[in-house]
Amino acid sequence: MQYPEPIARLVDSFMKLPGIGPKTAVRLAFFAVDMNEDDVMDFARSLVDVKRKLVYCSECQNISDHDPCSVCDDSSRDHSIICVVQDPKDVVALEKMRDYHGVYHVLHGVISPMDGVGPEDIKVAELIRRLEDEQVKEIILATNPTVEGEATAMYISRLVKPIGVKTSRIAHGLPVGGDLEYADEVTLSKALEGRREL
Ligand SMILES: [Zn+2]
Repeated sequence: MQYPEPIARLVDSFMKLPGIGPKTAVRLAFFAVDMNEDDVMDFARSLVDVKRKLVYCSECQNISDHDPCSVCDDSSRDHSIICVVQDPKDVVALEKMRDYHGVYHVLHGVISPMDGVGPEDIKVAELIRRLEDEQVKEIILATNPTVEGEATAMYISRLVKPIGVKTSRIAHGLPVGGDLEYADEVTLSKALEGRREL
């Protein structure tokens, strides 16, 4: 039996989400049928808003609901230290730790020749521009400790050397192959503390 068209379309939409297979998608679609209308409208609006109401901060490239974002806009933060991460979720993880008071730069990915991702596909040029314009003293390369994360950190440190900004790499309290996003606060704090100069 075929599902009625609106359900079939919703199933297809759920299947576009990571980690959702056909069975789960069907279960979620039928759950939506039983949801009350206000909740469904809220849900639909939230989905649309993440596309329409978010912007990239013109300084750090993080996603935000205003430009510049609240971190870049905060004059109590140390704008001479930039922590470079690969994903907006890493900023959230590092902010939870509460003892980092510098600013960030979000690359939105890592260099990965296997996946056809080159330096021009991530926000490297934007980072270099910041280093030329601003009084930045140090950048901390906090890409994930994966092959791609390490290669990206090395690539950036080589680019930055001639500019004369100190570059450091977070220490490996982090599990190799692990994601920054999933590290606990103590591990993250130690990793940041034990960073070494590149
Ligand atoms: Zn920002």
